[in-house]
Amino acid sequence: MAADPDALNRGAALAAYATETAACTRCRLASGRTQVVFGIGDPAADLMFVGEAPGFHEDKQGIPFVGQAGKLLDKLLAGIGLDRTQVYVCNVLKCRPPGNRDPVPDEKEACEPYLFRQVELIRPKVVATLGNHATKQLSGKDIGITRVHGQEQQLKVGSLDVLLYPLYHPAAALYTPRMLEVLESDFRRLPELLGRATKPEPEQAPLIAAEPAVQLGLF
Ligand code: URA
Repeated sequence: MAADPDALNRGAALAAYATETAACTRCRLASGRTQVVFGIGDPAADLMFVGEAPGFHEDKQGIPFVGQAGKLLDKLLAGIGLDRTQVYVCNVLKCRPPGNRDPVPDEKEACEPYLFRQVELIRPKVVATLGNHATKQLSGKDIGITRVHGQEQQLKVGSLDVLLYPLYHPAAALYTPRMLEVLESDFRRLPELLGRATKPEPEQAPLIAAEPAVQLGLF
């Protein structure tokens, strides 16, 4: 974990938030899921990845990116000297859409507060969005990944200023060699981006671990 005096508090707040999220019934996906797939990794990570939605294996195991796309993500991370424990990985949707269909707008809207709160608690320097859904959700723009991949943009997520870095989705790159090359090349820029981005400062007072529900504004 990073040398950040507030990191333990934020870790506790994130864990409390995961517990609350586990009972979510905000959309239809609650009825078909095995479990909510909240996210995993370092709660004080400088680098956060946001994918689309849990698939079959993620739904069973409760961990994002455990299938083939996840193996590629791990390989790409290893290529820049990182592993899963040093980053944070989650999805736009926390529950599996039936048959792995695309997320629909009201599901993304229902789940958005969870993602924004995760970003606010983790305070990553760089949010790398994997594919179209995450990129459009976090940028708020309807511009496809083919046009924006590899182009960092400073923007607000919730109350935080973060560097958004859109990347092709690893699942798409698995079967398209040209896309894989582009993804690898975009990935290689991450260390430089992390080197120059600053940890975003929260607008609110520092979190206190003893009273996570109150700090999170749950009551
Ligand atoms: N697994 C995930 O957790 N998310 C994706 O977007 C794809 C596979």
